[in-house]
This record gives sequence, C-alpha cells and structure tokens, in this order.
Amino acid sequence: MSRVLNFSAGPSAIPLAVLERAQAEFTNYHGLGFSIMEVSHRGKVFEELHNNAIAKVREFYNIGDDYAVLFLQGGATLQFAQIPLNIYAGGVAEYANTGVWTQKAIKEAKIQNINYKVVASSEDVKFDHIPEVNFSDDADYGYICSNNTIYGTQYSRLPSPKCPLVVDSSSDLLSREIDFKAHNIGLFYGGAQKNAGPAGITIVIVKKDLASRVKDSVPTPLRYTTQIEANSLANTPPTFGIYMFDLVLDWIKDQGGLNAINAINEQKAAALYDLIDSSDFYKAFAKPGSRSLMNVSFATPSAELDGIFVKLAEQNGMIGLKGHRILGGLRASIYNAVTPQSVQTLCEFMKEFQRTHG
Ligand SMILES: *Cc1c(COP(=O)(O)O)cnc(C)c1O
Repeated sequence: MSRVLNFSAGPSAIPLAVLERAQAEFTNYHGLGFSIMEVSHRGKVFEELHNNAIAKVREFYNIGDDYAVLFLQGGATLQFAQIPLNIYAGGVAEYANTGVWTQKAIKEAKIQNINYKVVASSEDVKFDHIPEVNFSDDADYGYICSNNTIYGTQYSRLPSPKCPLVVDSSSDLLSREIDFKAHNIGLFYGGAQKNAGPAGITIVIVKKDLASRVKDSVPTPLRYTTQIEANSLANTPPTFGIYMFDLVLDWIKDQGGLNAINAINEQKAAALYDLIDSSDFYKAFAKPGSRSLMNVSFATPSAELDGIFVKLAEQNGMIGLKGHRILGGLRASIYNAVTPQSVQTLCEFMKEFQRTHG
C-alpha cells in the first residue's frame, strides 16, 4: 500500500525523506555497527548528535548563550506546571487565554496559588480570533500560545512586551523565523510531535537569568537550572526522539531554512482559505487576521456532511481530517511536512465534494 496524505493534528506527518533516512540507519548508525538507540547518552557518538541538534536550533532562532536549549520530557503539559514553578517571582503572572491549551496552563497557575491574571481572552466568541494582548511592563511574565491547534488561530505577529514573554509554540515550532530579542522572549517551548518529529521530546528554550529565579523548594528534577547545568542530561533523555528531531532539523535546512518553509506554508494555507472563502459551502472557523498557517479548522453546512467528508477523504487516501471533538467540523493540519501537492490534492477533493454534495 502506498502512503496516505496525512493531515493529522498530532502526532502528525513527518517528512518522508526523514523517515527513509532513519530507516536506512536504523540498525547501523553511520556505519558504526549499532543503532543510535543502543548507546549511552553520555558517549561520544550521542553527545555529538545532541550538541549538533542544539546548535541547529540556536542557528534557526538566532539565539545566543543567554538562552539554554533543552530537550525535556513530559510534553507541553508538564511545562504548564513547570513554568510558574520556576519563573514566577512573587509578582503577577499574566496570561492571554486563546483556547484549551492556555486554559490548561492557567489552571496550573491557579493550582500553584500564584498571583495570576488573565489579561486577554476570546473565550466569549469560542476562541475564533486572537484578541489584542497587552502585558504589564512589570509582570513576572506574559504567557501566550502562538498557535491554537484546535481552533486554527495563530498570532500573525507575537506581542513585544517589556516583561519576559512565554510562548507555547507546540504546533508552530520551527515553522517561521522568530526574533527572540524583538519579542523579549524569556521562554519558548513545544513538543516535537506536531511540527518537528515524533512524540517524546519537548524543546524548551529558556533565558538563563529567568531560570535562575527558581526557589530552593522546587524539586531538583523540575528545575530548569538542573537541566541547564547538565546540558539536558540530568537523567537519560529520549535519545531516539532527539535523533529524529535532529533529522528534521537537517530537512528544514535542506528546504532552505525557516523563511523558505514559511513561504511554502503561506502558499499552502492560502490555497485552502481561498477555496473555503470563495465557496458558500465551506466555512472557516477562525476570523481573517487570526488564521493559522498550521491548522485550518472549517466545516461543511452540516455535521452529517462533515462525517461523510471524513469517510470519503479516507477512501481517497487522506487521513486526519476530522475536527477536534470540542469544535466538531473538519480540520486540515498542514504542518511543515505536508507538501504543497498534498494540499492541492485536498483542494481538488474539496471542490469535487462540494460539487457532488452541495
Ligand atoms: C498538543 C499541544 C499541547 C499538549 O502537548 P502534549 O505534548 O500532549 O503535552 C500543548 N499546547 C499546544 C498548543 C498543543 O498543540
């Protein structure tokens, strides 16, 4: 059977070239006679791979030694708790609420009983757009989710607060260039499994001075400083996940880097939104100006037709198009690894579906 066109929200498509390279060196890494999974995380071979991956992340985001690049476990979900635990400094932590994933982050701030404030929200309109966000200059940090995977909304431009900005970039990680200085980014993180490889690692980029806010009462394994001092090797890291992530980084380089990837992503998204907007059959969920280049949430005129759409799409070799259960409808996740040709095929299928079911 040939490979399907994969529009899943996460875990999601991985570039075929990456999968094939991993397959080719699965049992014999670089001719050394072992799989990368079978060797010590403290040995020379893994160490070199690990440090190369960190260097590539630094290069893509143009960040210096004032930031640490960490490969952690526990997903973005652990970060919801780890962030206030480490960088809340006794003042006010401010949050912009743009959907389920920020609600979960806010819940953890509440559980820790810190002084937090929701300074912007689009909850009253079911999160169909990114609200205007203004963080206080003296907040301990301002928290956002740059791309809201479920609703298909995305900050077209990140805020540039005076306080440190914290960004959950789980579903638009490495999809575009980000100027860390201009946006005063203090912490930038995301799981690899949406846009940057298989599940298993969480990439956390944290400013070292921010990490040093941590109090003595925080358990050692939950401190960023522990992993900064150990170069993410305080405990055994998910070595195979880091290896796969590194292959994805090479693939991004081969595509021409983040700007080139972003240009392709813009074209892919425009093809879908243009089709949706020019039809009276499909309807996009997110308002123009807030629309995600990564997740396109939309619907046909009825839940019944949505269901038929998903089934027919599967019969035509396209998977992952069912909308999130919270929103219903349909969702096409068109991450870096989804090719323009795949999006083109989906567009043609959508036109044909409208012709036969509209
Ligand atoms: C998927 C997702 C998460 C949760 O990630 P886990 O790795 O499952 O913890 C958090 N935030 C966003 C924006 C996501 O898309």
